[in-house]
Amino acid sequence: MGNTLVGVKEREDTMSERNIIILGSGPAGLTAAIYLGRAEMKPLVIAGRQAGGQLMLTSEVENYPGFPEGIMGPELMDRMRQQAERFGAEFVDEDAVSVDFGDRPFVVKTEGEEFRADAVIIATGASARWLGLPSEARLMGRGVSACAVCDGFFFRNKAVAVVGGGDTAMEEALFLTRYANAVTVVHRRNELRASKIMQERATKHPKISFVWDSAIKDIRGTDAVQGVVLENLNSHQETDLQVQGVFVAIGYTPNTEIFRGQVEMDDKGYIIRREHSRTNVPGVFVAGDVEDFRYRQAVTAAGDGCRAALDAEAYLEGLH
Ligand code: NAP
Repeated sequence: MGNTLVGVKEREDTMSERNIIILGSGPAGLTAAIYLGRAEMKPLVIAGRQAGGQLMLTSEVENYPGFPEGIMGPELMDRMRQQAERFGAEFVDEDAVSVDFGDRPFVVKTEGEEFRADAVIIATGASARWLGLPSEARLMGRGVSACAVCDGFFFRNKAVAVVGGGDTAMEEALFLTRYANAVTVVHRRNELRASKIMQERATKHPKISFVWDSAIKDIRGTDAVQGVVLENLNSHQETDLQVQGVFVAIGYTPNTEIFRGQVEMDDKGYIIRREHSRTNVPGVFVAGDVEDFRYRQAVTAAGDGCRAALDAEAYLEGLH
């Protein structure tokens, strides 16, 4: 970096005034922090109370390049954070509660503090929706998952259930047919919400069957999933289905509540990415699942974080 950054770096000593704030500490936010740290931008990461993002809920990650033996999700996130800290990124393990992108510098507030910065990267991710059963929480990572690409491999020649009737559920079910010998889609209505093409693929697949008008009432098992109790929502009759895995695919909610009215979003609340990683607000960039509902992978989020960091760096250089 040239001398243009000297003015930028002078700000580093005050905790509240920053060059750049990164909101979120999943793979997107932490990769951005590594890049901006190495660029000597002293990024501040508002990591959130539940730092680390969705990978904290995953067990083994086998498809992140560079770890041929696999790595546990929380360990991967811990390593990324250490790498960011090594290059000077600072962390606040609190949730951001509000932002103001109307004026410059931008303002980001947590419960106890207020921070200001010339640029912001939004990398707050999305949260998988869950059924809300106590057994689901107990068996998460032990047969209960919201990511077939991450965990499907562990269900070779086993039977699994997929909950949901949208595109994600069909995609999960189809992906799981590579490993599982039987995939049962449990849907609360008798009609799918998924696109025609995905419906056709799933309904025609010999390994996939459907249980209509039904909900999972309970997931059986102590350390591993042994089955599910299904309730027919019309007759209220309960049946038992023996499965070793349950994939919940009832949609995602982007974590964008605090950005409402501040930055452009689509009708589902995903941030709209314009050119490269830019949003409609100059100086506010976006990375990862908070704008990407298609790929949702750790490695794609990390790639997005890198791009947002490079774009933000160029933007900051242009300011000073
Ligand atoms: P979605 O379209 O909102 O579908 C969610 C599904 O889960 C619906 O079938 C819904 O049932 C069911 N559901 C919701 N809450 C439930 C609950 N508490 N218990 C049981 N079932 C519940 O979400 P999505 O499938 O994640 O898709 C999100 C967006 O991404 C869509 O626009 C989709 O087209 C897109 N997407 C596209 C692709 C692709 O093109 N390959 C892949 C994935 C996603 P009801 O139908 O009864 O409401």
